[in-house]
Amino acid sequence: MLDELPRANLGFFPTPVTPLPRLSAALGGPALFLKRDDQTGLALGGNKVRKLEMFLGDALAQGCDTLVTGGAAQSNHCRQTAAAAAHAGLACHLVLGGAAPQTPDGNLLLDGLLGAEVHWAGDQRKGEPIPALLDELRRAGRKPYAIPYGGSNPLGACGFVHAARELRAQEEALGERFTHVVVATSSGGTQAGLVIGDDRPGRVVGVCIDKELVGGAPFPDHVRALAEETATLAGLAPPRPEACVFWADYAGGGYGQVGALERDAIETLARTEGVLLDPVYTARAFGGLLDRVRSGFFAPSDRVLFWHTGGAPALFAYRGEL
Ligand SMILES: *Cc1c(COP(=O)(O)O)cnc(C)c1O
Repeated sequence: MLDELPRANLGFFPTPVTPLPRLSAALGGPALFLKRDDQTGLALGGNKVRKLEMFLGDALAQGCDTLVTGGAAQSNHCRQTAAAAAHAGLACHLVLGGAAPQTPDGNLLLDGLLGAEVHWAGDQRKGEPIPALLDELRRAGRKPYAIPYGGSNPLGACGFVHAARELRAQEEALGERFTHVVVATSSGGTQAGLVIGDDRPGRVVGVCIDKELVGGAPFPDHVRALAEETATLAGLAPPRPEACVFWADYAGGGYGQVGALERDAIETLARTEGVLLDPVYTARAFGGLLDRVRSGFFAPSDRVLFWHTGGAPALFAYRGEL
C-alpha cells in the first residue's frame, strides 16, 4: 500500500504550478501552465527527487550504506542520486556511459562535487555493469542499494503516484482543472506513476524521448507493464487500456541528439517566460507540445499543464550545440 512504503524527505514539495501568460498569448492557443519539478530543491532539482524519496526510504529501512545507479554521462538521475546519498550520509557509485572527459561539465561536474565515485562503462549507458559492481562492493564489506536506470521500477514510480495526488490538491486549491498533463517520458517511471495516481484516464501524455526498445519490448508496452506493477505495489486500481497516451513522433535523431525542435523550444520558453528547459528531455517534450499547439491539436478552451522535469544543468555540457 502506497502510504505504508517508507519515504525519505529530500525535496521541497509541493512544487509550484505557474501560468505561462506571455507564451500562451503569443501562440494564441490554449492556456499553458508549468508544474515546476525543476524546482524540487535537491542539488538543482528535477523529477528524480520524487523517486529518490522512495528509494532512500527503502535503502535506509534495509540498513544499506551505499547507493548505486547508472545512466548517461549527463544523467540528471545520477546527479540527484549523488545528492540524495550525500544528504543521507551514504556513499554513491555511478556507472556512466562513455569515457572520462578531460574536463567534467554539467551534471558530471556536479557528480564529482557531490562526492560520487564514477565508473565508466563505454557504450553501455543504461547501467548494464551494475550487478558486477554490486558483487564487488559486497565483497568489500559494503551494503549497496541498487537503483535501476532512471529510477524506473514500481517503487520509484510510486513517487509519482504521490505527485499526481499533489497536483490534484493544487487543482482543488486553485479551482483549476487541467485538460492535459504533458510530460517527457524516457525510462517511464514518471509517466507510469502519474497515470496510476491520476483520476482522469488519458489526461497524462508522455512525449517519448528515446526510440530504443526496453528489454526487447516497444516503449509503450514497457510503460503499461510498469504502470500495472506500480498499481499493484501501491494497492490501487490497474490502469485502464486508454490511460497510457504517447506522442512518439518527436524523438528525432535519438536520445541526447539536439536539433531544431529542441533549440526552438529552449529559446521560445526562455525568451517569453524566462524559464530554462534542458536539452535532452524537456526541450524535446516542450518542442512536441509547441508543435501540437501550432498545428491546432488543442481547443482554445483547453488548459494544458507541462510537467517541467528539470535537467537544466546539462545545458552547460551542450553549449556547443545550442
Ligand atoms: C529522467 C528525466 C525525465 C524522464 O523521466 P522518466 O521517469 O525516466 O521517464 C524527464 N526529464 C528529465 C529532465 C529527466 O532527467
